[in-house]
Amino acid sequence: MRGRRAPEASETRGERPPASERIVEADWTWTGGGFAPGVQLRIGDDGRIAAVGRLGLEPTLRLRRQALLPGMVSAHSHAFQRGLRGRGERFPAGAGSFWSWREAMYDLAGRLDADGFERLCLQAFREMRSAGITAVGEFHYFHHGQAREPASQRASEPGTREEPLDYALDACVLRAASLAGIRIVLLNTYYRTGGIALPLEGAQRRFASPAPEPFWEQMDRLSGDLAGPDQTLGAAVHSLRAAPPEELAAIYDEARRRGMVVHLHVEEQRREIADCLAYYGRRPMQLVLATLPAADALTAVHCTHTSREDLERFLDAGGSACICPLTEANLGDGLPDLAIAERQGGRLSLGTDSNARISLLEEMRWLEYGQRLRAESRGVLRDGAGEVARILLRAATAGGARALGLPCGELAAGCWADLVAIDLENPALAGWEPETLLETLVFGGGDDAIAATAVGGEWRRRGGTEDTEGGDD
Ligand SMILES: [Zn+2]
Repeated sequence: MRGRRAPEASETRGERPPASERIVEADWTWTGGGFAPGVQLRIGDDGRIAAVGRLGLEPTLRLRRQALLPGMVSAHSHAFQRGLRGRGERFPAGAGSFWSWREAMYDLAGRLDADGFERLCLQAFREMRSAGITAVGEFHYFHHGQAREPASQRASEPGTREEPLDYALDACVLRAASLAGIRIVLLNTYYRTGGIALPLEGAQRRFASPAPEPFWEQMDRLSGDLAGPDQTLGAAVHSLRAAPPEELAAIYDEARRRGMVVHLHVEEQRREIADCLAYYGRRPMQLVLATLPAADALTAVHCTHTSREDLERFLDAGGSACICPLTEANLGDGLPDLAIAERQGGRLSLGTDSNARISLLEEMRWLEYGQRLRAESRGVLRDGAGEVARILLRAATAGGARALGLPCGELAAGCWADLVAIDLENPALAGWEPETLLETLVFGGGDDAIAATAVGGEWRRRGGTEDTEGGDD
C-alpha cells in the first residue's frame, strides 16, 4: 500500500547515533507519496537531513501522536504589509480595488520608520512560523528610511544636497527573520519607475533603485549582513511597471551569473496589462518571454490575468509561477487559469504576499478552490493519479523551495531539516486514516493542528518564541 511504504535502510534498530546527530521519529512521516510509520530522520549538526528511512536507530526525539511533514514555504511576502491587516476593509465611497488598496499601502509606507518597519516584519515572520512556514521569500522593495526628494525639487533648491539612498530598511528584514527563527531568501527588489516611463512619486521614492549598478552594489553590501546559513539573497524586479524590459534583462543576467533566483510581479491587474499593451504593444508576460530567452531562474508572481497560452509558454521556458490566493481574493484581483496540470511539473508555489492572513494551509486549499469556482468542476489541480492534495502540498513545500533556490521542502538527504510536526489528536483531524491524512489536513485542518516547527533541525513549539524540543520524550 503506497501510504505505508517507507525508504529502506540497513542499520540495526537500537543503535545509538553519534552525539552530534539527532534522530527524529514521528508516528507517521511524509515520504513524498504518502505517510509511512517507523521512518526516521537523521539530522546532522549542520542542520541538514543526513538520512531518511527505517534507520533502526534510537530516536533522540520521538514525536508521538504526531505526523512529520516538510516545512512550508511562503515564496512571496511583503512582511511590512502586515500593518494593514483589518484596515481598508470598509468601503463608504463605494467598491474598492487593488489601486485603492495600494493608496492605503503607500500611506503606511510613508509613515513607517525603521523601528516600526522592523516590528511589523518580526510580527509577520513569527506568525509564519506558527503557521508552519519555515522559509520565506521576502520580496523586499521598501528600502529607504527616508523618502528621497524628487529631482525637480532638488534642482529648484540650489545648495540642497542630494539625499543619499540609505537602504536603512534592508538590514531590518534580515534582523527580524533572525529573531523569528525563519529561513529567509531576501529578494532584494529593483524599483526604478512609478509606472511605465513615469517618475517615482510620494512613498514610492522610498522604494527607489536608481540603476542596476548601484542595485548590485547594495546587494554586495547586504551579503555582509547575512546572519548565517539560514539567510540568502535573491533578486527581484518589482514589475514591468517599475522597470523597463532592458533593465529586467540586465538584472536577470547578473543574477544568473551569481546563481541567484529572480522574481517579478506579472499580470496581477488588468490595468497593468492595458498600460503595457499601450506602451510596448505586448502584454507583460509576452514582454517577459520576448526579453528573456530562457526563464529557468524566474518566478512570475500572480499571473492572475495571464492567458493559458502565455502561461504554458512561460512554464515551457523553465519559469515558475507563484500564486497568492488569499491576497488575490482580498484585493479582488481575479483568478488565474491554472488548468494546465500536466505542465506544472512542481513549478507552482504559494505566497502569503500582503499577509492579511498568514496560513499556508488556507492558501493550499484556496489554490484548488479558486480553480473549482472558476472551472465549475472539482479536482482541477490533480496529478497523473488524480490526487489534488499532493499537488497542493508540493506547491506549499518543494515548489516554493525551487522558486527560492533553497534545498528544502522535502524530507530527503541533503535538504535542510525544516520540518512541521502535526498534532494527530487535533479535533479538526478526527477521523483521519493514513491514506486520507493529507487530504484531511489540507481540506479540513487549521493552523492549530501544527504542534511545532523546526528550522535547520532547531525546534520551536507553535506560538513559542524560544527554541524547544517538539516532542514529548
Ligand atoms: Zn507582491
